[in-house]
Amino acid sequence: MFDALTEKLQQTFKRMRNKGRLTEADVKEALREVRLALLEADVNFKVVREFLGRVEARAVGQDVLESLTPDQAVIRIVRDELIQLMGSHVERVHMASNPPTVIYMVGLQGAGKTTASAKLARMLRHQGRQPLLVAADIYRPAAIDQLKVLADKIQVPVVTEPSKTPVELAELGKAASRRMAKDVIIIDTAGRLHVDDDLMGELEAMNARIPANEMLLVVDAMTGQDAVRVAEAFKERLPLTGVVMTKLDGDARGGAALSIREVTQLPIKLVGSGEKLEDLEPFNPDRMASRILG
Ligand code: GDP
Repeated sequence: MFDALTEKLQQTFKRMRNKGRLTEADVKEALREVRLALLEADVNFKVVREFLGRVEARAVGQDVLESLTPDQAVIRIVRDELIQLMGSHVERVHMASNPPTVIYMVGLQGAGKTTASAKLARMLRHQGRQPLLVAADIYRPAAIDQLKVLADKIQVPVVTEPSKTPVELAELGKAASRRMAKDVIIIDTAGRLHVDDDLMGELEAMNARIPANEMLLVVDAMTGQDAVRVAEAFKERLPLTGVVMTKLDGDARGGAALSIREVTQLPIKLVGSGEKLEDLEPFNPDRMASRILG
């Protein structure tokens, strides 16, 4: 994950360390290399510019240059700012004070919505919740079957009724949660190949009828800046509350993970790091920054 970025940053910091005493020019040179490394990692160029501006404002002063270990001070500043960039702290999936909590999983087809829905149900089960899944991706029968298979594995009930509309399915989910005493409803909504009006209209209608406590946008990290553009488009129409970033395990660059928060102001709440049901974890900016810096 993010191997190329980690390697480039390590080389940059190693060169800086080998210089011994640092001048302002040395620090600026190192930051130029950090800038290139981030651009090569497909981080949004505006995000890179603002990030470097913040780092430089802190790293080029006398405090840093005259400190005992200026190279360490620069690395610490880069680390701090990376953490800020990714949202600074772990963002939880919020539970309604008055159950059931309603969680919509939205996004484009193939992003990993169905898998993430089941993974989230499993995670909540492990936290002592009683989730219920709703298969509302009615245009793709395979998605309904896929959700059933996954739900079976984790022994979570799933509401499926292919002849119903997505709005009706959301209603059925709510009714079933009452009947079965479930405290979280996770709705796997339909995805399309492109962001389109029908998709948005349908999601708005569902949310108007059964309001979301969390509306999580599922995006594929491997699609880089496309994932960021998708997030911007969805955010224009829907009250998103956060992002689930999938396929981080296959993402060699890191551009989406490092840009999406700053561009959209949406927190990354969860990350998918594999195809297995246990491969979902809360997104931890601190730990991610450590992994990036190696
Ligand atoms: P949906 O169309 O958005 O519901 O997407 P799916 O849940 O069907 O996922 C599409 C493909 O991506 C499937 O083959 C999943 O196994 C795979 N997938 C989902 N999440 C991850 C992940 O975190 N890592 C990897 N490597 N594959 C994933």
